[in-house]
Amino acid sequence: MAPTPYTVVLFTNNQHKVEEIQTMLSLPEIPVVPYRQLFKGPIDVVEDGETFEENAILKVNALPNRPHVIYLAEDSGIEVAHLNGGPGIYSARYAGKHATGHDMCHKLLRECYGAGNRDAQYRAVMALRFPNGTVETHTGIVRGALAHEMAGSNGFGYDPVFIPEDNDITFGEMAPEVKHSKSHRYHALTKVKQSITNFLNTTIEN
Ligand code: IMP
Repeated sequence: MAPTPYTVVLFTNNQHKVEEIQTMLSLPEIPVVPYRQLFKGPIDVVEDGETFEENAILKVNALPNRPHVIYLAEDSGIEVAHLNGGPGIYSARYAGKHATGHDMCHKLLRECYGAGNRDAQYRAVMALRFPNGTVETHTGIVRGALAHEMAGSNGFGYDPVFIPEDNDITFGEMAPEVKHSKSHRYHALTKVKQSITNFLNTTIEN
């Protein structure tokens, strides 16, 4: 494939997400870089949307248009049946602004202690913004269950307490490449990749 002038710029301040997305979103000839390589200092967006989609769109619209830049942002979280779908969009702030992954898992286990229904799922909504201003979103979900205790130190956030469907170990216990083959992020990125490929094919043809 001929080289293209396009770059995918990730809008996130979460280094774990940068690493996972860079590993998973392999697009021939298109670099995938965090916005901090192009813009000075961290940029914070007030995530006051009521859905993952709204927050993902707020994030992807945070940066100014640049020629040949495709912006990609994500809003994600864990949805737990016992908490009626919570913490959901509040997953990052669930145990306080500066809480660690351990704090978040600990709080979730405490609030779900003794719960009969331990169904849980991760949801990721990716927002793409193309240089012509078109914005679209793509969702990925991985169903599973909440563990009874933390296990494993791989991944981040709630991974030590999330057991994906048809498995008996947590994401925290899985090798990264195994998590990356079944995660919510993987499912959303498969659609993102297809959409970027379609965009490039159309752009090059015209
Ligand atoms: P966001 O940066 O506002 O989208 O926050 C997403 C939050 O959801 C993260 O801070 C984590 O707490 C949680 N989360 C999302 N994806 C994952 C994952 O793959 N593993 C563990 N936690 C995740």
